[in-house]
Amino acid sequence: MSASTVSASAPETKPLTVVGGGLVGSLLALYLAQQGHTVDVYERRPDPRRSGNVEGRSINLALSDRGWRALRGVGIEEAVREVAIPLYRRVMHDQRGQLTMQPYGHDGQAIYSVSRAGLNQRLLDLVDREPRVKVLFDQQCRRVDLRNRTLEMFDGAAETSHVIPYQHLFGTDGAYSSVRAAMQKTDRFNYSQHYLNYGYKELTIAAGDAGSWAIEKNTLHIWPRGQYMMIALPNLDGSFNCTLFFPYEGPYSFATLQTPEQVRRFFEEVFSDAVPLMPELEQEFFENPTSSLVTVRCYPWSVTDEVLLLGDASHAIVPFYGQGMNAGFEDCTILQQLMESHGSDWLAIFQEFQQQRKPNADAMADLAVYNFEEMRDRVADPRFLLQKKIESK
Ligand code: FAD
Repeated sequence: MSASTVSASAPETKPLTVVGGGLVGSLLALYLAQQGHTVDVYERRPDPRRSGNVEGRSINLALSDRGWRALRGVGIEEAVREVAIPLYRRVMHDQRGQLTMQPYGHDGQAIYSVSRAGLNQRLLDLVDREPRVKVLFDQQCRRVDLRNRTLEMFDGAAETSHVIPYQHLFGTDGAYSSVRAAMQKTDRFNYSQHYLNYGYKELTIAAGDAGSWAIEKNTLHIWPRGQYMMIALPNLDGSFNCTLFFPYEGPYSFATLQTPEQVRRFFEEVFSDAVPLMPELEQEFFENPTSSLVTVRCYPWSVTDEVLLLGDASHAIVPFYGQGMNAGFEDCTILQQLMESHGSDWLAIFQEFQQQRKPNADAMADLAVYNFEEMRDRVADPRFLLQKKIESK
């Protein structure tokens, strides 16, 4: 079904309200529009396509099967594939620069590297083509009044606040959700957040000559080092986005790398084959933020027929299983199935949605933490996995 095709279920007379126009919010808007609803999306940031604003960095994400299925559901799989690079295997770099590999599957099976900013912009372009959806940028939700069904929005451009009513509200405003914050004050709402003692920093392997890839392109590269690791995913322009997952404290940690000399010495020792490809290493290390890694669990995800949380707002997980966005996209697939079977009975849709999704989200959260140990440590251990030696560069 294409994004402009409308399903048979009776559309709402008033627009549905979505807070958060990130990856999940923009895809959700397409799904709601496909059901014939009009949708207003409120996004805190300015339009990233106009401001060029990606908050100083863009993480690369691995898009996998459950994500593709969700994109296919609104007919945008091919448009996204244009900005994605298939990764057929992971390659581990040991301390001496020796490489070992593990394929991700058989017969061309792959996960795909996409830039978070690039994907968000592509989704917003696709949303623009959907006349039922209006995206309002620079609109930060500051407060949700559940009793009166209103939102207090701060307009970043005008620097003023205003109150808007809503009928049905979808919270897709990420791990630090303002919609969830209002639900946290309601009776019997369970909530927990857990931070790893690790943070992450984005770094870059530069493009090779004439936009070529300096290391193997269709590959997720890992430098597993036991207590920490670096990974790299390819970009379309020949560069790689590297992410260093590193302890906040301890002998090898962000706390001990305080000067450019310390950073260079450390990288030359432990990531020897990557350093020559990272011309802006020291600058990026000190300019790019160190970001934290959080798991958020909560329940319920809905308030009557009034509010539903989706994506990281309800289930933020650490990135090591590569499934946070994919799970958020899958939320949209499941919601669509429930809209098909329950029409506009939002109470039934929201209830069944959270009952179906919560066990999956919890399992994913556990697997994500487990996979950190796997990636930073066990992928480098020949006792655990069958590895095929490949030529070192
Ligand atoms: P977000 O992407 O956080 O979007 C929320 C949106 O809401 C943003 O646009 C924000 O500006 C807006 N917003 C926030 N507050 C407000 C407010 N008060 N009012 C209005 N708007 C608001 N997932 C994968 O599937 N594969 C991966 O390989 C992967 N790698 C990752 C690597 C790292 C280092 C990290 C940190 C995450 C990774 N993830 C990965 C997870 C993925 O990034 C998230 O799961 C995904 O971005 C969640 O999408 P979302 O739309 O729910 O939330």
